[in-house]
Amino acid sequence: MSQQPWYSHYPQEVPSTYPYPEQNLAGFLIESASKYPNNKALHFLGKELTYAQLLSASYRFAHALRGLGVGKGDRVAIMLPNCPQLVIAYYGVLHLGGVVVMTNPLYMQRELAHQLHDSGASVVVTLDFLYRKVMSAVPSMTDTHIIVTSIKDYLPFPSNVLYPIKAKKDGLEREVQYGGRVHAFRKLLRGSPATPLHTEVDAKRDLALLQYTGGTTGLSKGVMLTHYNMIANTIQTSLWAYKSVPGQERYLAALPFFHVFGLTVLMNQAIMLAGEMLLVPKFEIAAILKLIHTMKPTIFPGAPTMYIALINHPDIRNYDLSSIRMCISGAAPLPHEVQERFEAITGGRLIEGYGLTEASPVTHANNIWEKRKFGSIGIPFPDTIAKIVHPETGEDVPEGQIGELAVFGPQVMKGYWNAPTETAKVLNNGWLRTGDMARMDEDGYFYIMDRMKDMIIAGGFNIFPREVEEVLFEHPAIAEAVVMGVPDQYRGETVKVFVVLKEGAKLTKEELEKFCRERLAAYKVPRIYEFRASLPKTMAGKILRRKLAEEDQNQEAEK
Ligand code: AMP
Repeated sequence: MSQQPWYSHYPQEVPSTYPYPEQNLAGFLIESASKYPNNKALHFLGKELTYAQLLSASYRFAHALRGLGVGKGDRVAIMLPNCPQLVIAYYGVLHLGGVVVMTNPLYMQRELAHQLHDSGASVVVTLDFLYRKVMSAVPSMTDTHIIVTSIKDYLPFPSNVLYPIKAKKDGLEREVQYGGRVHAFRKLLRGSPATPLHTEVDAKRDLALLQYTGGTTGLSKGVMLTHYNMIANTIQTSLWAYKSVPGQERYLAALPFFHVFGLTVLMNQAIMLAGEMLLVPKFEIAAILKLIHTMKPTIFPGAPTMYIALINHPDIRNYDLSSIRMCISGAAPLPHEVQERFEAITGGRLIEGYGLTEASPVTHANNIWEKRKFGSIGIPFPDTIAKIVHPETGEDVPEGQIGELAVFGPQVMKGYWNAPTETAKVLNNGWLRTGDMARMDEDGYFYIMDRMKDMIIAGGFNIFPREVEEVLFEHPAIAEAVVMGVPDQYRGETVKVFVVLKEGAKLTKEELEKFCRERLAAYKVPRIYEFRASLPKTMAGKILRRKLAEEDQNQEAEK
């Protein structure tokens, strides 16, 4: 082991080439609303909100929160799907200098309780049909206010309809009516002024977001992202990945905003460039195809599973998808085959990027202006440095060899919330260890080989599931594939594959095994094959490998 800390010979101070403004993240909305007040900001189920309307609603919400005692640095949890109230609440919290805690609406009581307790959120904004779940997660936190809205209640102004929470037999209506700690979103807005309320922040110190990591790995921790982190990453993405025209783009907002990828490459991006967001509360492929056909979005950031679902839809030819010009894919590896087919169908450009919550999240992408390489996550963003280090010693590995990816840049988090020991494991003087195994080629392009812990060791050979999955995706009958290591008496681990076939496609285990044998070294060829109708996924479209592994273990135990 090296005596020196692993990062000691790396630069610790790198001057930014771009003057990322040191301001409140809500400044993007204020600027766009002042330049383009009448441009459409949000489109949701056929209704629209302009920039001026969105800004006033967010001011009203900020005043309402202030009335509930929320001030600078206080945490406010938002547990909503993509809908206008989410955007209004997000900017309302930011105006006050508060900290947004984005919460996945699919969380169950236990996960939610952990997040609310750990973050110390004093307010939760949620939907009427999630209200019971939220209540059950906060019983011990008697000070927590709950603000309830309804998916139907998305246009707060102009409207003079008093918000009636649909009379539920469970007494929710009474609780709302008689005040206390449960509040109706619309009523709060109606009772608050739309006057500007904007809190100055120390952008490099103050938090904009406390973002809990995906839940596909270990214990969920709060990632502290400052206003500066988010502003820098939004600008970096627009410099690198998009050729967008201010005031003119339409974004298909299908990536969920409770994941930081959706926030940065979609919401912050669209608001900064005064674009219109077509809000999609749930990823339903038929509805999305129709939306693209009729509303003609120009930008569609997504996760690979979204593009896979789209290109495999049996009626794809019935829809005009030619409005789509730019897409950035992240969160998981993008198979080359998917990228090519998507581009052929839409005529747009789909580039692969990479990131992690701890980096706001994007650190790499194939630059839209330059040569891209398939299978590569591209080159580091502006003002971002990346290294491949030995996972144990932290020393640089020779060019072309696989090691752990470490990154440095203005988007790298401040640390984990209340977890200094966890922080010290991954962050040192601005250098973040990603936990992903990668390599860099001679042109400086990076390739993710795998998550460190996903690597399979079978009979002493290292196998990266990603490589095997790439081969599987080349098979014309396969829609989705996941490869993982499972315990094996002789080899320690062996390679197992889970596949989902395209609609109507037929494929036997023997045929697939033959296909793999022709393309992979013998030790990498999967030994166990499981055909499934679907795979478990997060709402961000990431396949839940851990869940799949658990299901697999349970199945084995039952045998
Ligand atoms: P999260 O913090 O939930 O955004 O998850 C971050 C992780 O997603 C990274 O550490 C990678 O393991 C994975 N990831 C993100 N983008 C890619 C990509 N383009 N290729 C492979 N893995 C990716």
